[in-house]
Amino acid sequence: MVAGCTTKFGILPKTLAADGAYGKGEFLAWLETRGIDSYIPLRKHYASKSADHLYGIDHFAYNPGTNSYECPEGKELKYIGIKAAVNKSYLYRSTPAKCRNCPRKSECTTGRFKQLVIHVDEAARQRANQRTLQPAFFRHQCERRKVEALFGQLKNQIGLRRLRLRRLKYVREQFLIAATAQNLKRLVRYLTTRSPLEAGGRDLRLLIRCLRIRNRQLPSLGPIQSIWG
Ligand code: SF4
Repeated sequence: MVAGCTTKFGILPKTLAADGAYGKGEFLAWLETRGIDSYIPLRKHYASKSADHLYGIDHFAYNPGTNSYECPEGKELKYIGIKAAVNKSYLYRSTPAKCRNCPRKSECTTGRFKQLVIHVDEAARQRANQRTLQPAFFRHQCERRKVEALFGQLKNQIGLRRLRLRRLKYVREQFLIAATAQNLKRLVRYLTTRSPLEAGGRDLRLLIRCLRIRNRQLPSLGPIQSIWG
């Protein structure tokens, strides 16, 4: 959708907010390559619930010279290779001999030795994770909810869970009718929650224009006072 937005309308978003389902390493790295700042919660990478209490990557120090990690006990976890089957991850392992008598073993691993599974786009994941700590993250998430609430209303209240017709032009038509109904509902709610004096001249002009259109198309509907309640 982001790529389509660029090719169709020639605009590239500077930021993107989404829910945690989109917080995958590949997608975060893809956004980075296009210069888009993601405000998306990180999706867990290859972490089972039973491993939540065990040491994570933040307990290990990376050594770029040897491409290995050092555990809190000073033992080296060597690089094993890329494992495509595990979400394209780098594997680093200790050995049973290193971990056997470790006093922290129960906090570190449930196996015979520790294995770190690190996403190939871990750097992009970490940068995205840093952004989730900024105040801008919460602002973007609030903005996202405003948009998603409209889709939720379309599905749950207006009933746009299923499309009745096939072919794109009919689907577009059905969606536009539903969106029009939704906008009318919102307009009525907006106008009725404010008194005419509060609404001011701008809203009054908008209201009068709406009523003119409405009365022209539906002459049997009530006068202005009915909308103001
Ligand atoms: S269990 Fe192994 S990897 Fe974990 S802290 Fe102990 S020695 Fe290090």
